[in-house]
Amino acid sequence: MRANSLETAHGILHYPCFLPDATRGVVRSVGSGDIASIGVSGLMVNALHLSRRPGTSVLARSGGVHGFMGWDRPISSDSGGYQIHSLISEDAKLGSVSDKGFVYRFSRSEEKRIVTPEKSIKYQFEIGSDIMFCLDVCTHPDDGDEAQLLGCKRTVEWAKRCKIEFASRVSRLAEGTARPLLFAVVQGGASSELRRMCVSELMNIGFDGYGFGGWPIDEDGGLVDAVGEVAGLLPNGTPKFALGIGKPESLVSAYLAGYGMLDCSIPTRDARRKRIFVFSDRPKRISFDDSTFYHYIYLQDKKHLADAGPLDETCDCPCCRRFSKAYLYHLFKLEDPLAYRLATIHNLRFMVRLTDELRRRSIAP
Ligand SMILES: [Zn+2]
Repeated sequence: MRANSLETAHGILHYPCFLPDATRGVVRSVGSGDIASIGVSGLMVNALHLSRRPGTSVLARSGGVHGFMGWDRPISSDSGGYQIHSLISEDAKLGSVSDKGFVYRFSRSEEKRIVTPEKSIKYQFEIGSDIMFCLDVCTHPDDGDEAQLLGCKRTVEWAKRCKIEFASRVSRLAEGTARPLLFAVVQGGASSELRRMCVSELMNIGFDGYGFGGWPIDEDGGLVDAVGEVAGLLPNGTPKFALGIGKPESLVSAYLAGYGMLDCSIPTRDARRKRIFVFSDRPKRISFDDSTFYHYIYLQDKKHLADAGPLDETCDCPCCRRFSKAYLYHLFKLEDPLAYRLATIHNLRFMVRLTDELRRRSIAP
């Protein structure tokens, strides 16, 4: 039987659980109170970005990222391996990878920094994350066979080093402190054989859960077959995290394939770009057989200029309860920050209602 929840040091995540991206310690445009009030149960931050600014030692002095952000529910942290690979693939002068770790910088004007598997775990302890991710080598699907194999081998070696560092830090936690969880990331690029090998070797080391995503997901947040295949390689009951998957229909597919947790910047980024998610009917009456269960409203569209109705007739979010499409259209025209806040609250409430409905159906007799 598949598991239906995960216990963390800051509470339980019930599957499917969508974790909005708070990459730099903020879900852009909204505060922790906003997102707690609409039922968001967990967030995903990025250890690499936080280590650069404000610095994880600043967070450690604020009681970790929970105290810093004023958020008392679960927080997961990405190691940043994927971001470094994106940087390097765009501009080789921004960094390099070796057996030891990564050398990187975010722009050519910055000093180079080094991150190793051990340092990445140190950052994540300073952040006070509940679900930590091992530093991994996220090869591009277009990289050659040799690079894919090397990337996979390094991912497994680094996962081993992360687990050793993690165990050493857990042993130093004060008595009675709930320990965080450590997840490893499955790599293997476009090769089914390599993905299988990576899963098998990571499982031999043994982690609290496993993630998959990054490059195999197309730029629009869609799914490829590999996502389902990797879920099938991991035993039932193993916590599975789909990284970077958050288009509503992709979330449904990934959940049905076996993933319990998902994170993505699409719902919040779309909100800031005036793309609003709307259910096509009341969630209880929708069918998840295809992507017609929802559609988009584009708030730049002039037809909303005088529309007195809410964004979504079925929605109970603070934006839909109080404001009209015409008001949101007006706020976006003014580029007032309230437009970004209200649209973000609505799209995240859409994601919460979607996951609530999937959960209700999966536990219904
Ligand atoms: Zn709403």
